[in-house]
Amino acid sequence: MAITYLKTAPPRPAVENKDIRDIVAIMLANIESGGEAAVRDYAEKLDGWTGEIVLSDAAREAACDRVPESLKDDIRFAQANIQRFAEAQKATMGECEVEVIPGLIAGQKQIPVSSAGCYVPGGRYSHIASALMTITTAKVAGVPHITAVSPTRPNIGIPDPIVFAMDLCGADLILNLGGVQGIAAMSKGLFGGKPADILVGPGNSYVAEAKRMLFGEVGIDMFAGPTDSLIIADHTASAETVAWDLVSQAEHGTDSPVWLVATDEPLAKAVLARVSSLIDSLPEPNASAARIAWNERAEVILCDSREEAAEVSDRYAPEHLQVQAGDLEWWLGRLSAYGSLFLGAETTVAFGDKTSGPNHVLPTSGAARYTGGLSVHKFTKTVTWQRCDAAASHELALRTARISRMEGMEGHARSAELRLRPRVA
Ligand code: NAD
Repeated sequence: MAITYLKTAPPRPAVENKDIRDIVAIMLANIESGGEAAVRDYAEKLDGWTGEIVLSDAAREAACDRVPESLKDDIRFAQANIQRFAEAQKATMGECEVEVIPGLIAGQKQIPVSSAGCYVPGGRYSHIASALMTITTAKVAGVPHITAVSPTRPNIGIPDPIVFAMDLCGADLILNLGGVQGIAAMSKGLFGGKPADILVGPGNSYVAEAKRMLFGEVGIDMFAGPTDSLIIADHTASAETVAWDLVSQAEHGTDSPVWLVATDEPLAKAVLARVSSLIDSLPEPNASAARIAWNERAEVILCDSREEAAEVSDRYAPEHLQVQAGDLEWWLGRLSAYGSLFLGAETTVAFGDKTSGPNHVLPTSGAARYTGGLSVHKFTKTVTWQRCDAAASHELALRTARISRMEGMEGHARSAELRLRPRVA
């Protein structure tokens, strides 16, 4: 492969992850032993929140009333698109029933988990759309109990538009909590919630680590930490559009990598020349965050061919993947590792982040190699069942007993052979 790095970034420092692991482990242990009191302490220490943890019905209603009608309208538009897409996903979920051998019927069913904890990030920005993405999808999957949490602003609580979005989607319980303490509270069912069967939603490195550590005790959607984005561009792309799309994703935070994989050198160089001035044009603190992300995390890679560009992209397995190049069908067929794909210059990751419908809770840090994003499937268990008539049971019993004895499993063999005898009451 002949690839040239026009801009490189150092690998993410391992120590950062170790520090976060240590901090989160201590926090989870303290919450395990200290319960709700420990959660309240962290809410005060980390987010300056000393108010009620459970958002009352009256506070929920008041927050919704304060949201301007035009914003409500936009949020409803996005929610409807997300719901429509999730319903289409649900329609593809397979239930099946097959006669494996004569008299042996086996089947598969889809059962929603009984409770979900939805994390809505809100440290730096008010991620309204994360409330829509997580709660709507859980609802469509048929989850009967949904708790939602989001970081509070000192003396304000959860921003009103996020409360409106949570309410619109049907959250059963809203807790004024962010970070590790919010995740732990949902997992344990503190403050009147039901212990979560699954924790979903994106968040910063603390949130992602808390979910990772709790996995096993509860299910999680995936490892969805700091966002990352890759753009593939050829000579047909606009340098201005590519540069803005990179900057818009670097805006997420200082630890959000963006990558450009180009097959055209003049295009790549034009983008490189343009990005800094676009970042300077952003308001603060967005500009500072994007500048650090660009300087410390971004890479620009030049490839000789589109096949090479596809290989590089698959290796990065980005959360978001944009293609601004000719022959979009070829790219759709060829690319195999991404959380969500955005084809053509008329679409952009910002659409997917906010309004277009496919979920924005997506695998980061290369996890797109082995998983897709949040979907109704993540809230649903694919379970199986079976039933036999007497003839099928007879055949299964003989063969099962022989295999079991070969394995040394006498109990299994006897349990199977019991089925050879006439049934006793
Ligand atoms: P956040 O809600 O994830 O985190 C804020 C919380 O972090 C606070 O409530 C606080 O309790 C906790 N915290 C902060 N500093 C801490 C410390 N030193 N020790 C322990 N806890 C601490 O909000 P954020 O920080 O703005 O991060 C949002 C993240 O979500 C970004 O990284 C963004 O890229 C990501 N995101 C990802 C997706 C996706 O689908 N992958 C979508 C949207 C957002």
